[in-house]
Amino acid sequence: MSIQVFGLPVSRGVAIGRAVLVASSRVDVAHYFIEPHQAEREVDRLRCARDEVAAELMALKQDVPEEAHAELVALLDVHLMMLHDEMLIEAVKQWVVERHYNAEWAITAQLEVVARQFDEMEDEYLRERKADLEQVVERMLRALSNDVGVMGAAHASLQAASREDPLVLIASDIAPADMMHFKRSVFTGFVTDVGGRTSHTAIVARSMDIPAVVGTREASRLVRQDDWVVIDGDAGVLIVNPPPIVLEEYRFRQRQSELERARLHRLRHAPCVTLDGQHIDLLANIELPSDAQVALEAGAVGVGLFRSEFMFMNRGGRLPDEEEQFRGYRTAVQALNGLPVTIRTIDVGADKPLDRMSTHELRHEHTLNPALGLRAIRWSLSEPEMFGEQLRAILRASTHGKVRLLIPMVAHLREILQVRQALEQACRELDEAGHAYAQVELGAMIEVPAAALMLPLFLRHFDFVSIGTNDLIQYTLAIDRADEAVAHLYDAWHPAVLQLVAQTIAQANAAGKPVSVCGEMAGDPAFTELLLAMGLRSFSMHPAQISSIKQRILRTDARQLAGLVEHVLASDEPQDACVAWLSRARRLTH
Ligand code: PEP
Ligand code: MG
Repeated sequence: MSIQVFGLPVSRGVAIGRAVLVASSRVDVAHYFIEPHQAEREVDRLRCARDEVAAELMALKQDVPEEAHAELVALLDVHLMMLHDEMLIEAVKQWVVERHYNAEWAITAQLEVVARQFDEMEDEYLRERKADLEQVVERMLRALSNDVGVMGAAHASLQAASREDPLVLIASDIAPADMMHFKRSVFTGFVTDVGGRTSHTAIVARSMDIPAVVGTREASRLVRQDDWVVIDGDAGVLIVNPPPIVLEEYRFRQRQSELERARLHRLRHAPCVTLDGQHIDLLANIELPSDAQVALEAGAVGVGLFRSEFMFMNRGGRLPDEEEQFRGYRTAVQALNGLPVTIRTIDVGADKPLDRMSTHELRHEHTLNPALGLRAIRWSLSEPEMFGEQLRAILRASTHGKVRLLIPMVAHLREILQVRQALEQACRELDEAGHAYAQVELGAMIEVPAAALMLPLFLRHFDFVSIGTNDLIQYTLAIDRADEAVAHLYDAWHPAVLQLVAQTIAQANAAGKPVSVCGEMAGDPAFTELLLAMGLRSFSMHPAQISSIKQRILRTDARQLAGLVEHVLASDEPQDACVAWLSRARRLTH
């Protein structure tokens, strides 16, 4: 039976493929295809892992003290029984032999199938055995991690992937850190039960240009392992087991968007100038040093936002030191070859926690309301040693090109002064250590209403500002950007948000200080003309969005549109603002 599941469209395009259900806690398990002749070796890995876990459980059983509860021994027996269940083992082997999944993936794929059967059981005792199976799988995965497999997790076999059915990932949730695994995975799209339009999971999906739908609430319950699904990333719909006619329509749309993409690609190195001759800078948002090359190839004239915190994720608790960070920043700066690279200091907290094992995170683990808690610059100022290391690393990279330093979530003068002091100290320490550095421009993210309202203060202390609309909307409207339950209220068209954005651009322009927008609004074609009309001349977005935004800019007369902004700002409701803008602007757009 075909069903449709609705969610929030967060990354455009169509993906068609077989569903791979992955429990949220296992999104980071390696997913790659093996070559058919490697199946035997992969099955061997499974066998070794099973023997290792069985020996571990037997040893545990022997060590159970006499006085311990008899239930403990019974539990270990259940785990051992599961481990030796031939039907289960055969099913896992099938994923390897017939579908060419690596061992870790095969185990988790079968776990999803069996977990579903447990969920449907009437008997409560049997239903609860699911937790036991999960523990056994956890042990198996740990045992497998001692032996990285035929190709190693880092080498997803894309060659093999092209021979297999395309795959899409369905999970209850995916953490931003786990999204980084996607960059080298075999999945062509994903759907999650939770999340909002500007949650970092959605942002990373857009940066990779793969179709995604979040906030579906129950996709992971409704879809079964291996179902054929279509992800419509434009409409925010997941179609499970589509009828042939629907499938054909989506295949057609997929081909159309590939053609459109190829057409836009030709624009990438064209100069970006409006019809009235205004030069516009299109910069890139990146997450990792290696993305810098992608930004350049997409035609970016610099990096407007390097989210440095992604370098601190997936590290198994060991954070990068000054030297490692320096090398990472230098890679990005050298790739840009003299074009500016705006490095934002670490913005952890909220929906971007550091690794669980990190001592820093453990210390602040029980934050009640993380979006309002120890996040971004607040976190850095509470960890002066780490902040110093990061500042020194960035300063050292500045001798290899043009570096700009960007501070997230500043709201207080006190914070500005502390940042200046930390920067001076970092320079002194580099002098003492004999390391060279250049002068870097210092900028502030305007993403808290307090900063937008006190912009003159910020303009006195900073060389440039960058509007982080994702958080500015979140904090102006008091909407958690990652919470799908209130996603309908998260609205960039809200007149209060537009007023703060317009006034920030106008005041910065009047003061002669560079201003850009680096939130998702900058890469959303619905806002391009409005931002131009507000006076914005610098946009920073995912590399994949640059060409389509450029196309809109090339067709816009910014001077003609400028007079329309006040109607929009005077609207009472987000819908009124949107309609007021679109109806007037359309008449003037070419
Ligand atoms: C923003 O808040 O708009 C922004 C660009 O920063 P981030 O999305 O990383 O919070
Ligand atoms: Mg932000």
